[in-house]
Amino acid sequence: MTIFEKIIAGEIPAEIIYQDELCAAIRDINPQAPVHVLIVPKRVIPRVGEAQESDQATLGALLLAAGKVAKQLGVSETSKGFRLVINHGKDGGETVPHLHVHLLAGRELDWPPG
Ligand code: AMP
Repeated sequence: MTIFEKIIAGEIPAEIIYQDELCAAIRDINPQAPVHVLIVPKRVIPRVGEAQESDQATLGALLLAAGKVAKQLGVSETSKGFRLVINHGKDGGETVPHLHVHLLAGRELDWPPG
């Protein structure tokens, strides 16, 4: 089981701030911004480049959930804002092989990222 599967199963403690049928959102344990949430599919897709046609609904659900969580946390107005990030593989900075969308907000984020 991946660490995120264990969190979703309640085997490892985490702050779950949103859940629906297909995904859950948890606070990142090592936040890189005042708001740092991970939106995770309940059924494991290892990484975005390995998603299949059959994962289309789950992939859509992740972005819809991200928008809802941003609203829930009060960062979705354009005067504030947020960034969504998906890391794939070594150069992308992936450390957990269970697809997740980082939602970062609460400060002005640099572009390009490091
Ligand atoms: P990535 O590097 O894109 O694979 O992101 C993995 C993220 O998972 C990192 O930002 C970690 O801080 C986060 N993370 C790892 N373990 C936990 C945990 N137990 N609870 C919450 N977030 C975690």
